[in-house]
Amino acid sequence: MSTVDTFGRPIRDLRISVTDRCNFRCVYCMPKEVFGRGYRFMDRKELLTFEEIERLARAFVANGVEKVRITGGEPLLRRDLEVLIERLVAIGGLDVALTTNGTLLPQKAEALRAAGLNRVTVSLDSLDDETFRAMNDVGFPVARVLEGIDAAASAGLAVKVNAVVKRGVNDDQILDLARHFHGSGHILRYIEYMDVGGTNGWRLDDVVPAAEVVATVDAELPLEPADENYRGEVARRWRFRDGGGEIGVIASVTQPFCGDCTRSRISAEGRLYTCLFASVGHDLRAVVRGGADDAELHDFIARIWGRRSDRYSEIRSSRTAELPRVEMSYIGG
Ligand code: SAM
Ligand code: SF4
Ligand code: SF4
Repeated sequence: MSTVDTFGRPIRDLRISVTDRCNFRCVYCMPKEVFGRGYRFMDRKELLTFEEIERLARAFVANGVEKVRITGGEPLLRRDLEVLIERLVAIGGLDVALTTNGTLLPQKAEALRAAGLNRVTVSLDSLDDETFRAMNDVGFPVARVLEGIDAAASAGLAVKVNAVVKRGVNDDQILDLARHFHGSGHILRYIEYMDVGGTNGWRLDDVVPAAEVVATVDAELPLEPADENYRGEVARRWRFRDGGGEIGVIASVTQPFCGDCTRSRISAEGRLYTCLFASVGHDLRAVVRGGADDAELHDFIARIWGRRSDRYSEIRSSRTAELPRVEMSYIGG
């Protein structure tokens, strides 16, 4: 039986951040001014171990979780990540996914696939090299992310591509991205730039509404709406009318979807957050390291989820913009 929150939303998804570190400094996520020299990242001993993550994952599954997404920071920076994937797949009945910037996929794709991973989401915001280098802010070239995508596909992993669209930065890339992935078998998803964290200087004017993205693509590559794959699916799906596959839009700002939100998140140090915009996490690591048995762990999670009433995106306003909240690189998106 699934644990439900105060609005009757079941806990179905768990996103696990395995590191707060990253080899990129995307301007909308880890701006250099904040995450540059002197920023204090977590120590190794603060991170949940793979054993602890597996134990927690089992407790979430016992509460009704069906899908786990590994994220970060950049999750492939965590050494031997495939070992964790193998452990999570071995739980059984769990859909395991990974979100990555793709930089390490050429080295890692085969091992991930061998560990039982079926799919990856690769973030790529632009096909224009100059724009992409400026967005990741470490000068990383587009071609190497495309190599990562190819390596994943060759290893047998299904690939989705995530592109965050920021006004005046990469909105001129919307069509190029669609053209590139049209007919490729990879599903491209455009994400509205969100006001996560407190360091990216987010302004509503920087958001390109999903409706505008769809209209831009549709003008050249005609689209038709496709049905939801399942209740609570974050991306709205659009099919190319010519059979060239589909795209998705994640309209967290202009069309919030809190009503169906079934997602829980744990940070790399084991704090449980019931909303992407929460400011306070619940210390699961202390519970695990304090010697709780499986039933106690299950009940701890059930109690927190049972009290949940988050719906930040639906009540977003100038007032909520002032509230403190955790960074995307900490909680993993
Ligand atoms: N490093 C990995 C990556 O970039 O795919 C995984 C972690 S990253 C925080 C997860 C996702 O969040 C990425 O697709 C990224 O583009 C997205 N993201 C980060 N900051 C965002 C923001 N301010 N608004 C919308 N999406 C954001
Ligand atoms: Fe790193 Fe991903 Fe954040 Fe970019 S979006 S800085 S790749 S964690
Ligand atoms: Fe879920 Fe919070 Fe996002 Fe709403 S704002 S969809 S409750 S994570």
